[in-house]
Amino acid sequence: MTFRKFAPRKKFCRFCANKDIDLDYKNVDLLRDFITDRGKIIARRITGTCAKHQRQLTGEIKKSRQMALMIYTATHSVSVHKRTA
Ligand SMILES: [Zn+2]
Repeated sequence: MTFRKFAPRKKFCRFCANKDIDLDYKNVDLLRDFITDRGKIIARRITGTCAKHQRQLTGEIKKSRQMALMIYTATHSVSVHKRTA
């Protein structure tokens, strides 16, 4: 039995693996996977995203923030409440 219950530690770039993913600032659901609940961009060594796509992703997240689609801070995070300590 495995005791590793949390997300599998496969390191691959999600965007390279799936070309159908629409990396776009309007795709907030996707971008959310790459930021913390406090609105910080998750380092690519954690998500496994390759350098090229991480740069693209960062750009889209920033654009999304400017469009106010995404939170800057945890000001109005309702569902997630201090998961990390
Ligand atoms: Zn990639």
